[in-house]
Amino acid sequence: MAPAGQNGDVADRKIPRTMRAAVLRGAEDLRIEDVPIPVAGPGELVVQVGAALTCGTDLKVYRRGYHAKMLTLDRLFGHELAGTVAQRGPGVTAFALGDRVLPLNSAPCGQCYFCRNGQQNLCDDLLFNNGAYAEFIRIPARIVEKNTLPIPDGVCFEDAALTEPLACVIRGLEESGVCFSSHAGSAAGKTAIVLGAGPIGLLFIHAASLAGLQVIAVVKRADQIATARRFGAQQVIRISDVPDPIAAARALTPEGRGADIVLEAVATPEAWQWAVRMARKGGLINLFGGPPSGTTVALDTNLIHYSDLTLKASFHHTPATARRAFELIVSGRFRAPDFHTGVASLEDLPMVFRSMMNRPVDGVAPEIKTIIYPERSSGGERATADLAGGSVEDPLPDGIAGDAGNSGISRRQP
Ligand SMILES: [Zn+2]
Ligand SMILES: [Zn+2]
Repeated sequence: MAPAGQNGDVADRKIPRTMRAAVLRGAEDLRIEDVPIPVAGPGELVVQVGAALTCGTDLKVYRRGYHAKMLTLDRLFGHELAGTVAQRGPGVTAFALGDRVLPLNSAPCGQCYFCRNGQQNLCDDLLFNNGAYAEFIRIPARIVEKNTLPIPDGVCFEDAALTEPLACVIRGLEESGVCFSSHAGSAAGKTAIVLGAGPIGLLFIHAASLAGLQVIAVVKRADQIATARRFGAQQVIRISDVPDPIAAARALTPEGRGADIVLEAVATPEAWQWAVRMARKGGLINLFGGPPSGTTVALDTNLIHYSDLTLKASFHHTPATARRAFELIVSGRFRAPDFHTGVASLEDLPMVFRSMMNRPVDGVAPEIKTIIYPERSSGGERATADLAGGSVEDPLPDGIAGDAGNSGISRRQP
């Protein structure tokens, strides 16, 4: 480990003064601009982004052009990333220049009522960080101290960057009685119904199946049937294939009694209503998908009362669930590479978001996660590894077919 950087230090290689970065100027107005490279203040790091991932939350923010909590005044954008320490601010001793790190997108204060009670995700002063879609990103001191993890050898940036959404999902499962810490297997044999097979639904399907649950997936599109199975769903119902999706899902549970746990990852009032009707007596429903603010939903109070149902929701992650998510990825049990279905350069990011806005065509699987490489020429770690033996000049690594239409996304072969 390098000595403490009393006045801060920067990597040997010459860092230019400006960088390319995605800036969200307004609703659906995303531009790639030259902005000053951040400078690490006391306790801070500047990380050279090795890989960033697209996320449904970013798509929401893109549509609206703002996010009350997650987007700051500089309007830098993106929150799932991993990279290399390029600058250390004064006082940083835990990391050295060149270290490969995973900075999470938030850190709790550690002092408020919620932090003291193990609900750091609800911290009164949760500090968010954005700016992953850029060549460099500043990591605030609190995130450096509490929520930046060293990446072990053999784990690539692309996989490490999946930690953030998985941490939210692990927390959702733990809050639903599924244990990922010491005594794994506590949920073995239980039945979970997962509603939705977007990126979050698929993370739930895979994580729940790794925890030993029997997973029934309820999906909308034909292509999601195979995808849900690939990530561990034992049974899949496509809603348009059955007259009554609630009855069909319940019929697949043991004795038709309903699921022990229902995980809702669609974020519509209808999905919330279905979820409540798919649980067994005494079951738990985790309403994970967040519909737009102001949305209301009608629920059958009689059913909730007499069936003794537990309704809960989950928001965000804690430092503890981030670490458990990261351990699961590092262990190799979690098939992180399968979530990375597309690759694009930073310059193509506006096109990537425009294509994410389009309703997916049935039968054509949309991207789960698109990897954004701020430096396309470097191609990222997995790309570089894939290129071994090939031409380093080749912009498209093995396993990635040519451009998919004009979306700016290159497809990874499954
Ligand atoms: Zn995310
Ligand atoms: Zn707090």
